[in-house]
Amino acid sequence: MNIILLGPPGAGKGTQARILMEQRDMIQLSTGDMLREARSSGTEMGKVVADVMDSGALVTDEIVIGLIREKLEGDKKGGFIFDGFPRTLAQADALEGLLSDMGETLDAVIELRVRDEALVDRIVHRATCGNCGEVYHDKTKPIPADGKCSVCGGTEFKRRADDNEESLKTRLMEYYKKTSPLLGYYHAKKKLQRVDGLAEMHVVKAAIGAILDA
Ligand code: ADP
Ligand code: ZN
Repeated sequence: MNIILLGPPGAGKGTQARILMEQRDMIQLSTGDMLREARSSGTEMGKVVADVMDSGALVTDEIVIGLIREKLEGDKKGGFIFDGFPRTLAQADALEGLLSDMGETLDAVIELRVRDEALVDRIVHRATCGNCGEVYHDKTKPIPADGKCSVCGGTEFKRRADDNEESLKTRLMEYYKKTSPLLGYYHAKKKLQRVDGLAEMHVVKAAIGAILDA
């Protein structure tokens, strides 16, 4: 089973992808994570994309399609969860080609719907564990008082350089301009399913589970 998680920045795609990986042995393919990894390991490509990412704009289709292509060559396990990819119609076309070359299909596109004001609040108060990636929020899920990650005990927490109001404005605009047309595209292909991303995490999780089991 291969699915796409679609939604604006902060909609909860990464959180749900982590749950699906654990529960269904699926593989999360997050282009955002891949690009951040390229940056922190100092590759040429990482250097090229750094400023673009910090501004909140999209990296070129060519770069992200290349990253995804590489990952699809590995083990498929319970299937792929595309998180943050595709973000443009050109990327959606490329994905279709890559999957069909492998004899695979796209089973569902799940849109996590969240209104803009909630996104801003989620993102500007977000921190993640530097070791395991667990996501914290200053108000709703603060970093434990002992300074240790509740999942792995890690003591380093990170805030993303693009998790500020200025970059977020650009990220949202990019989403509405370039990514939201994918909703119509996948609706026409009868793949689109909508989930209320403002519901509690376990409710969202159950809604996605029901879609995948249907
Ligand atoms: P979010 O969904 O929270 O905005 P991501 O971690 O998915 O964040 O992406 C962070 C940044 O990485 C994006 O703002 C963009 O610059 C770049 N990026 C990630 N995926 C893509 C993609 N598929 N196409 C173009 N740029 C991407
Ligand atoms: Zn942790």
